[in-house]
Amino acid sequence: MALDYLCKVCRGHLKVKTSIVLAATKLTDRTQKGLVFLDPEIGNYTKVTHPSFQIKEGEEYIYTCPICSAQLNSMKYLHLVRIILIEEDGKEFNIYFSGIAGEKCTFKIRGNKLKVKKGPDVKIYNKYFEVPEEDRKYL
Ligand SMILES: [Zn+2]
Repeated sequence: MALDYLCKVCRGHLKVKTSIVLAATKLTDRTQKGLVFLDPEIGNYTKVTHPSFQIKEGEEYIYTCPICSAQLNSMKYLHLVRIILIEEDGKEFNIYFSGIAGEKCTFKIRGNKLKVKKGPDVKIYNKYFEVPEEDRKYL
């Protein structure tokens, strides 16, 4: 299935050929930055970088759009990063993944509805997405 991933700010295309391309900066050392190629398949956590830029497990990274430089880390959900997924039929979803390297979790959201959650670390962030609708405004 042909999926497209867009920047949540400029809606530029982040998927080129078989990778989602993002820029990443280490939160605790902003000199550590580079491009990251992510696998567009939900649940695949392969990250490819240039050898001069190593993603370190347990460290948090700020992800930015390589087109408009906007920060993609969520303001609403601490430690998660948001990009937009467009499926073949035009349906749009929010995709959240962890900005902390080594944490494997992905949430696929449409409107307020959680559609898919994947990865062994989803339990860390379940609290964001499993609260009753009426309590969401307090998050
Ligand atoms: Zn952008």
